[in-house]
Amino acid sequence: MPPIPSVIPMNMELECGACRHRQPFILPTPICEDCAHEWMDVRYDYPRIARVWIDLLRQRPHTMWRYRELLPLRDDDFQITMGEGGTALLRAHNLGMMLGMPNILIKDERQNPTNSFKDRQAALVISMMKEMGVTELVVASTGNVAISYSAYSAHAGIKLWTFLPGLVPPEKIREIAIYGSEVVKVTDTYDATKKIAAEFAAHKGILADRGIRDIGTRESMKSIALEVAEQLALEFGPPQPGIPWQSPDWYVQAVSGGMGPVGFWKGYEELYEMGFVDRMPKLALIQAEGCAPMVTSFKKGLTRAEPVTNPSTRVITIATGSPGPAYEVLYRIVEQNGGVFESVSDEETFRALHVLAKMEGLSVEPAAAAAFAGLFKLVNSGIIKRNEVVVVNCSGHTFPVEKFLLDNDWVKVIKTGSEPYAPDELSPATPAPRLSDNVLGALDQLDRRVRRIAIIEDNPDAARLLRRILQTQGQFQISEAHTGREGLELIGAEQPDVVLLDLMMPDMDGFALLDQLQIQGLLDDLSVIVITAKELSRVDRDRLQGQIQILLQKGSFTDEDLLEGIEALLGED
Ligand SMILES: *Cc1c(COP(=O)(O)O)cnc(C)c1O
Ligand SMILES: [Zn+2]
Repeated sequence: MPPIPSVIPMNMELECGACRHRQPFILPTPICEDCAHEWMDVRYDYPRIARVWIDLLRQRPHTMWRYRELLPLRDDDFQITMGEGGTALLRAHNLGMMLGMPNILIKDERQNPTNSFKDRQAALVISMMKEMGVTELVVASTGNVAISYSAYSAHAGIKLWTFLPGLVPPEKIREIAIYGSEVVKVTDTYDATKKIAAEFAAHKGILADRGIRDIGTRESMKSIALEVAEQLALEFGPPQPGIPWQSPDWYVQAVSGGMGPVGFWKGYEELYEMGFVDRMPKLALIQAEGCAPMVTSFKKGLTRAEPVTNPSTRVITIATGSPGPAYEVLYRIVEQNGGVFESVSDEETFRALHVLAKMEGLSVEPAAAAAFAGLFKLVNSGIIKRNEVVVVNCSGHTFPVEKFLLDNDWVKVIKTGSEPYAPDELSPATPAPRLSDNVLGALDQLDRRVRRIAIIEDNPDAARLLRRILQTQGQFQISEAHTGREGLELIGAEQPDVVLLDLMMPDMDGFALLDQLQIQGLLDDLSVIVITAKELSRVDRDRLQGQIQILLQKGSFTDEDLLEGIEALLGED
């Protein structure tokens, strides 16, 4: 899919969530210059966007990037899309009949590329990572973020380390592995997993995903609101002359970190500011009884959430015990605007899951079902009125990856020793390092990259492809140079085991580079694979003779050809 370019310059500013101070937009998201608050929001040129949007949107496809001018990517070239967003807004006829509610609308986020609404987050965050030049990333997740990030990272040529708590279902963990991400399973809670992932990232000097503290996550979730407002206007017509789009009475979502509702709210705030809607919706925030820090904290009137240290719910996707900064924002919204925090039992959730499948034909994951269980409860208790317009985020559905598709070594396990842990079908071929014995040693063992490979290639797409092929193997330390001269420096400095070399490059071409290496005596300990689009003449071939080991023609080699070639070369010494 071609990128959807912004028609106006991306004039963005950052605004502090505490003191409203404005400062220039930079990445990664900084703290407030004035008060050091962590929560910064992006502000855009709303009047200008409002003037051009209605006409513009008529011509654009229905993906998240339809709202390009309100998404904080500076350069269109880095836009990554797999068709995320633009999901259907379904009317729940049978459920509506059952509850006596004509206006239940289901935002079917299962329709995203990896079947959850995290694809919006992945599309924007990974695009922004690419814009920042990031090639490797660590993320902790209860499953869906890791799946989405894995898919988009594969697309973008980013190596991803995923850290997952022990209870994530094996089907989901396999889904992550199939994309070529590193999979690390921690036999502990999600909060403990996040800490270990952060330690690993710091120890290895790899960037860690900052979740809700990163602007990209919240801004991406905003697109749900923009779509819902536009879709409701098709359903019900504009609310009044001059106001084009619609607001529901309620937005219902199962929450863990709270990214979805925070983003949804910001979307409506911006639409309100632009004069596209005439009122704000209320938020209904649903958690699982066994892990409901936001619900219990709100009921106690606390402005900061009290964490739950021992989550006990089978709805793993939303088992976040320590909800972080979103709670404070959501607290304020619900306090000032109305809305509700509510919890549901696992039993209610699984009942809702069956009702939804059997009454509406929607097979959803438990976390999505929790939102519906919450809706039923709130309607029964009279908080949501039967004549109100309700949008429920049907947040996810998962496809299991069949076991036989993966080889033995696709999961690494860390034993923290603090949770009773019975071996299951995820018991790894390699023995689990014990975190309690030697933290850094255990983290080191996760990363077994011992071989160094240098890519010297001036075409960014070709370089990305090569890097991606190498990343899926797990054992290579990869570095890159984009000109012959840079390549020469790189080889001198890093002494790689293997060089992947392009022939046609500006400044110093591949032939000249090889000659230089020979003169400097650097060719002896080096294996060289030339990957070229050039039709080689007799003379060319003779020149390469004795300098290189393998020659691959661009566009006609597979990942296996390359990896087998490298294996063969590395096996020789
Ligand atoms: C992440 C997730 C949630 C919770 O989302 P937040 O807005 O981050 O709290 C709910 N359902 C599914 C399927 C999810 O993947
Ligand atoms: Zn501030």
